This record gives sequence, structure tokens and C-alpha cells, in this order.
Amino acid sequence: MRNFDYHRATSLQDAARHLGAHEGWQVLAGGTTMVDLVKLDVMKPTGLVDISGIPEMQGMQVGPSSIRFGALARMADVGDDATLRSACPALSESLWKAASPQLRNTARLGGNVLQQTRCPYYRDTSYACNKREPDSGCAALDGGRTHLHAILGGSKQCVAMYPGDWAQALIAFDAVVTVVSTTGVRRIPFANLHRLPGDSPEIETTLKRGEIIAMIEVPVVPAMKGSHYLKARDRESYAFAAASAAVGLALDGNRVSDARIALGGVAAKPWRASAAEAVLKGQVFSEALAREAGRAAFANATPLKDSAYKIALGADVVAGALMTAHQRAKG
Ligand code: SF4
Repeated sequence: MRNFDYHRATSLQDAARHLGAHEGWQVLAGGTTMVDLVKLDVMKPTGLVDISGIPEMQGMQVGPSSIRFGALARMADVGDDATLRSACPALSESLWKAASPQLRNTARLGGNVLQQTRCPYYRDTSYACNKREPDSGCAALDGGRTHLHAILGGSKQCVAMYPGDWAQALIAFDAVVTVVSTTGVRRIPFANLHRLPGDSPEIETTLKRGEIIAMIEVPVVPAMKGSHYLKARDRESYAFAAASAAVGLALDGNRVSDARIALGGVAAKPWRASAAEAVLKGQVFSEALAREAGRAAFANATPLKDSAYKIALGADVVAGALMTAHQRAKG
């Protein structure tokens, strides 16, 4: 492992000042991904600003019009919160279905949404990887195993899958991220936080140099009560999604007045399935309609040589999640 400098920030302003003043420095919070990648020589920061002790970025508030998450709140604390579970089951379930209990007790929400791909070739420096070293090639596309890679949003440069769970619930419910830097405060729709790989897969987000995620806010809508996060994976404990869906439904009588669907385990970034939502809106809910929405979610999928299974699996996951959400929306 390479040597790096270290600074323990005392406030958000202190962290932003330090990050802005030092090229090559990165933010350290829970460290559950960062420390691994530094040890593997995949990430090579010249210094780390430790923000984990900053008081104003902790905690969560569930209010009547919005839910606010401090970027340093722990995944376990938020996922286990009974008030959140009642207000929006999908936001809670997507946290406690992520990672292991040990990791959830350490990892912070801001780091969770920025977690790096689990593409095995990215994490092994003996393989070519455009995300790790621009223009070096892509071992996955060049004959590698692609069963865990993206079938939505990939490019000829990179087909890495976004591995997170909570992000799917955030994008489904139109979350907004507040970021802070020495130049001020910026609010970014969560849907615009992550970038598709395109020709520059090494640039994963729209964050500018020196910006730190301080808070994530989600507006309260009726479809939150009728929400669910369903995750299909190789084993029930501590595995990334083969396919997952965060969904929400609101009903007007028998008809769907609002539908939210976001996909995980299948796309290059947190993925809102707008075409699938359109299938549901204004219609009388039924299992057949849920299955039609599931198929619509994957109508534009581009399977790789090992990942065609994700289309049928993903459609089933969407339909299954909608069935549970419908029961919850009926109350
Ligand atoms: Fe690297 Fe992306 Fe190719 Fe994986 S899929 S090897 S992360 S360029």
C-alpha cells in the first residue's frame, strides 16, 4: 500500500477547505470501500480527509413533507429505524438488504451511494480496465466473464454494474443531494448524480473537485407507503444483486395513480424504469399488468454473453416487488 497524508476534519467547512486546497486528496468516511481499494492499489489518493466525526452530517429526520438523511448517518441506524420503515419501506429495506451487518454498522450513507463497481477486473490491477486506467481496454468485454455486468446503460468502453441498493429507492422517489464546497452549496437531483460510462468510464459522478455530499433529501409522496425493495441474489446474506427493484404504488380506488420503479443489479448507474411506470399509471392493477411492467422495464436491455438471464429475472423481480407494493398501497 502507498503512503498517504491524513487530516481529521472538525467541520464541513474545514473538510471542504482541505479537499479544495490539496490535489489528489479524497474523502474518507466509513472507509468500507475506500480502504479496500487503496490496499489493492486501485485508488491512489495522495491524502485522505476523514469526515467521519463531523457532527452536522449525522442523523436523519422523517418530516411531513420530506425525509432528510445526513451523509454520515450509518446504514444500520437508518435501515433499522421504525419510523422510516413505516414511512417508506423501500428506503429501509434497501439498506438492510445491503452488505453485511458488520459493514452496515460502519458504512455511511454518503459513501454508500458513491460506492465503486464490483467488476472483478477493476479491482485486480493485472487486468486491463478503462475505468481504472483510461484507454487501457476492458477485460470484461474482451472475453471476460460478464454475468454480473450491466445490461442497461453500458458502453463500448465499460459495462460495469452499479452495485448499490439504497440508490434505487432514492432515485425512485426523486431524492435530491446537497453538496458543499468552498464555493458554496449545490443541490443535485439524485438522478443526475451518477454518470453513464460513455467514453470516459473513469468519471462516475457529476460531483466537482472539492465537493462533499452533506445531506440527501427525499420528498414525501403517497407512493412511499406502498413501496417495497426486492433483491434477487446468489445467497440471502451479503451478496450483490443479480437483479433488484425499488418500487412504489399509490392507488385511486383500483387504479394506479402513481408508480415508481427503479432497477438495481442490471444497470451502469441507478436506473429509473420510466417506461415500466407508464404501463401502470391510470390502469387497474393486476398481476398481468405487473408482469407487463416488468417486461417493459427491460425492453431496451442489451445482454452480454453471460447475462441474458438478467432480463427474465429482472422482469420477475419487478413484478414480484409490485405485487407486494400493491398489498401495502391497499393498506
Ligand atoms: Fe473495467 Fe468497466 Fe471493463 Fe470492468 S467493465 S473491466 S470496470 S472497463
